[in-house]
Amino acid sequence: MSISENLKFFKNELPEKVSLVAVSKTKPLENLQEAYTFGQRIFGENKIQEMTEKWQLLPKDIEWHMIGHVQTNKVKYMAPYVSLIHGVDRLKVWSEIHKQALKNDRIIPCLLQVHIADEETKFGFSADEIKEIITHNTLLEFPNAKVVGLMGMASNSNDQDKVRAEFKGLRKLFDSANEMGCDFEVLSMGMSGDYTIGIEEGSNMVRVGSKIFGSRNY
Ligand SMILES: *Cc1c(COP(=O)(O)O)cnc(C)c1O
Repeated sequence: MSISENLKFFKNELPEKVSLVAVSKTKPLENLQEAYTFGQRIFGENKIQEMTEKWQLLPKDIEWHMIGHVQTNKVKYMAPYVSLIHGVDRLKVWSEIHKQALKNDRIIPCLLQVHIADEETKFGFSADEIKEIITHNTLLEFPNAKVVGLMGMASNSNDQDKVRAEFKGLRKLFDSANEMGCDFEVLSMGMSGDYTIGIEEGSNMVRVGSKIFGSRNY
């Protein structure tokens, strides 16, 4: 299947309210160009340097989403143009995004990453930490790194019930946050292997790489 055929599949497959982030990390410019020509405008990358190179070379109406773990000292390179940062997983990076957004006279939309998998290697706040962030009014401290929702990655597991339970927990936290007075709009959960479950559990943004561009060679 070609990239445009895959995108066409997703266009038909996804409910209207669900945004598709085409995860193009490691993929060459021609692949992104093909997706762009087909109408895709949201691309997700996990390395700031790679994303910045692609941003420089591709049309400026693309929305660039940083989906990976962010190193504090590199935030400045994406601050001028990034559309959404999914992986805000600690106060230090959140505060740096706020600082760099101010410098660029921007408000950068962000998602707080929540640790929902049982794997040590995945980053993110715990559900309790998210609730503390809300009750302690930390959201008001970094207004230029504006939190518009939550993101989570489920365990890399074939156990669908487990994945579903993790997504359900994140959805519950998302709803609680809004009941506590937040106005979160984006719930980013689901990738190539689990986007169907993500959507069933309330996701409105899926991050799909290999099901669009094919498998990655690192
Ligand atoms: C790579 C990546 C994806 C996409 O993964 P696929 O399985 O190829 O769809 C989604 N989210 C994050 C955070 C990623 O790092």
